Parts: sequence; structure tokens; C-alpha cells
Amino acid sequence: MERVDCIVVGAGVVGLAVARALALRGFETVLLEREHCIGSGTSSRNSEVIHAGIYYPTGSLKAELCVRGKQLLYHYCASHGVAHRRCGKLIVATSAEQRDTLEKLQATGHANGVSELAMVSAAQARAAEPQLRCMAALESSSTGIVDSHGLMLALQGDFEQAGGMLAYDAPVLGGECGAEGITLQVGGEQPMAIHAGLVVNSAGLHAQALASGLAGFPAEQVPPLYLAKGNYYSLAGRSPFSRLIYPVPEPGGLGVHLTIDLGGQARFGPDVEWVDTLDYRVDPARADAFYAAIRRYWPGLQDGALQPGYAGIRPKISGPGEAAAGFLIQGEAAHGVRGLVNLFGIESPGLTASLAIAERVLAAL
Ligand SMILES: Cc1cc2nc3c(=O)[nH]c(=O)nc-3n(C[C@H](O)[C@H](O)[C@H](O)COP(=O)(O)OP(=O)(O)OC[C@H]3O[C@@H](n4cnc5c(N)ncnc54)[C@H](O)[C@@H]3O)c2cc1C
Repeated sequence: MERVDCIVVGAGVVGLAVARALALRGFETVLLEREHCIGSGTSSRNSEVIHAGIYYPTGSLKAELCVRGKQLLYHYCASHGVAHRRCGKLIVATSAEQRDTLEKLQATGHANGVSELAMVSAAQARAAEPQLRCMAALESSSTGIVDSHGLMLALQGDFEQAGGMLAYDAPVLGGECGAEGITLQVGGEQPMAIHAGLVVNSAGLHAQALASGLAGFPAEQVPPLYLAKGNYYSLAGRSPFSRLIYPVPEPGGLGVHLTIDLGGQARFGPDVEWVDTLDYRVDPARADAFYAAIRRYWPGLQDGALQPGYAGIRPKISGPGEAAAGFLIQGEAAHGVRGLVNLFGIESPGLTASLAIAERVLAAL
């Protein structure tokens, strides 16, 4: 049986960041990915936004790791040549009630350590973005966009340069928790058993299934999984806005917002659709709701301008109508099993927070 210091399961942006950090710390580390490429899960199905850290409850892990992750990510992108842009964003109020929400968001942002926030009037917002209609807006100048695949390639490069080994087509089928660590059963073309003193479960939407398949892991410690699909529609032609435009948040998500990719292409979404299966098709019938939501802040949207795009699915650990749960980084102190760290509920802002999540996992070793 193979033996290594550490195994990370799942080569999404978070698994790559954790594996890189372990390898750079000098641990012999294997990263197991069941697909034949990195980042084929949620890490390729998001808005690619570097979030500022405004929305999350003060003192929560999400708030802390988003703000820290944003700093680490901007620094990492600059030092590793990963394409990104600090383009800023406007959160817009289209009613008097929503203006109060903006003030609350600003207060939460400040309490979370996000200082680059300014309330702007309708006229100021319109001067900056002539096609925008709103009563007021909150400008977040530390929000940006990043080439998520470029980021993952850079993390992979660091990991391999530090001696890490990435195995593709290597699905973890099950395993066993023991006194000295964890033994995993790996399928694929060359099935094998591999043992490590530390296993980090970074399997995203499959993290609960992975933890449930480990003999000796207490079943009651596996949180429920709720799937909240987010659909996107793309806009034909160039973006009418130079900043990201967000409505005030809605339950389960941030509202149908406009994001721009580094090529200047605009997309709208994600909405929130609670689902039971991992089906990524975008239902064209959802277009009507998109047109209605977007026209509240961009009345100039023409009929026929939106095309169904792609979808991502949020691995939530709280369900519809429940208080939103945060990230769950679950180690021995929480579940009692030596050498296992589970990463549950790593939804947005997991891309922004990826380097900070890695830092947090290593700090607990
Ligand atoms: C619609 C949407 C929009 C979002 N927008 C943003 C945003 O703008 N900004 C932001 O910061 N965050 C955003 N996020 C969140 C962000 O995308 C995720 O938090 C992040 O990508 C999670 O990365 P991950 O590595 O945990 O998971 P994943 O990327 O899903 O990676 C998990 C990996 O594990 C592998 N795997 C699973 N099971 C096994 C197994 N048994 N054996 C081996 N491998 C396995 C999978 O194949 C996959 O590659 C968004 C999320 C969604 C859904």
C-alpha cells in the first residue's frame, strides 16, 4: 500500500490551494481528482468575481476568509501573472426600502473590514454608468474579476513544482479511518489503496458522499446537502457597463447581477433554483424572470438580447427558508477523527476565499 503524508481529494480551486499549501510546507502530498482535468466542478461554473466581503455576517468564517482571501488573491494574481482586474462594482437600490438595505450592507462591510465602500447618488451612478437606472448605489471598489482557470493552473504549477503529485481519473470510492490516519480506496484504471496521516476532503458537491463512505467516521457529523442551482444568461455584444452591477441580495443568492469576463463579455445571473440532481442545463423558460429582474436596473435591455448560458450548483448546508449557513471546515476537534479535515458548504465566496481556506486548514495542523 502507498503511504504519503497528505492526500487532498478534489482538484477544484480550493483543493488545489490546500494541496499547494501542504506541498510548500514540505509535506509529501497527493491530490486525487476523479475527472481527467482540474476544475471541472463548481470552480468552472461561477461568476469569477473577487468578492469584497460585504454580505456575510460579521465574525463569520465566510466574512473572515473572504476578506483575507481577497487580499491573498490580489497579491497572488499580481505575483503569478494570473489575469484579473479590480473593476469595482455597484450594488443598486431601485426603491426607498432597498436604499435602507444598502446602508445596512455598508455597515456590515465596514464591520467586516471592507473600507473601500461609498454610497453614491443616482446622478453619480448614472455619470459612471449611463445606462443604469437606480435611486442610489453602494460602490465597492475592491471588488474584481479573475481568470479562474488561469488561477487554478498557477496553483497546480506551484503544487507540482513543490513536489506534489496530481492524479487524474482517480475517484475516491471509500476508505477507513484508523488510529494512524486514513486509508482511501481509489478506483479508476489502476485501483489502489493509499494511506495518509492527513486527508483533506475538498470534494465540493460530493464532500458529504465522501465523508459518509469513510468507515469509522461518525454519520451524525455529516451535514445535510442542499443543491441551489444558479443559472446564467449571456448577453449578445459588448457589455453596456464597465463595472459589475448587482441588485440588493435575495434569499439564497446575491440576485441576478451583471458580471463581465476579462474579454469584456457580459453575463447575467446566477438566480436561485433549488434542485435535487446535478443537472446543469439552463431552462430557456427562466428567461422571462431574468428580463424582468434586469430591467429594474437596466431598462434598455432589448428583447431577444439574452441567451441561455451555463449553470453552477451551490453545495449548501442549509436549505430553503433556513438561516444561511457558512463554510464548515471540520477537523478532529469537531468530529473526533484523527487526520481528517472535511470542507463542507464551500459555496460563494469560495473562489475568493480559496487561499485563505488553505491557510486556515494548515493553521490547524
Ligand atoms: C453559481 C455560482 C457562482 C459562484 N460565483 C462565485 C464568485 O463569483 N466568486 C467566488 O468567490 N465564488 C463563487 N462561487 C463559489 C465558488 O465557485 C466555489 O466555492 C469554489 O469553486 C469551490 O471549489 P471547490 O474546490 O471546493 O469545489 P469544486 O470546484 O466543485 O471541486 C471539487 C472537485 O472534487 C472532485 N471530486 C468530487 N468527488 C471526488 C471523489 N470521490 N474523488 C476524487 N475527486 C472528487 C470533483 O471532480 C471536483 O473537481 C460560485 C458558486 C456557484 C455555484
